[in-house]
Amino acid sequence: MPPLPILNGRRFGCTQCGNCCMEPGYIFMTFVELERIAAHLGVTVARFKTDYDVQWDANSGQFEIDATDGTGCPLLTKDRGCSVHAVKPEQCRTFPFWDELLDDHRAWEDTKRYCPGLDAKGGRLYTKAEIRALQSGEGTT
Ligand code: SF4
Ligand code: SF4
Repeated sequence: MPPLPILNGRRFGCTQCGNCCMEPGYIFMTFVELERIAAHLGVTVARFKTDYDVQWDANSGQFEIDATDGTGCPLLTKDRGCSVHAVKPEQCRTFPFWDELLDDHRAWEDTKRYCPGLDAKGGRLYTKAEIRALQSGEGTT
């Protein structure tokens, strides 16, 4: 993993607005994550894959849910909470501390279009070490 160019860390404070889960895109997950999510929902892997139209994506080498139609992630609840919060995939658990955002100032600024938590005045300053720990699977934002 390349060194972080942001030695002073990043300030972030999630407002729980749910906007990130409404952004058109794909939700990627490994098979282990898929198994955990299915178990959390109390269904079999096969049932979960059918109900949420989970597809295999050869490019990423992961499973994916297609949420590109603008209606949001199907795992989002009516009150904009995550129905699988405790076991959400790495992609969701580490947002917004993705290297593609951390390493690209313009991408970080663009993400503020929908995420009010980035550089939020009331947010917490995450150190580089904390960000790396989150990326490694220790804790969540
Ligand atoms: S899995 Fe949860 S956190 Fe991830 S996009 Fe869906 S609702 Fe949001
Ligand atoms: S991460 Fe950003 S967009 Fe997502 S719920 Fe928190 S404040 Fe809203």
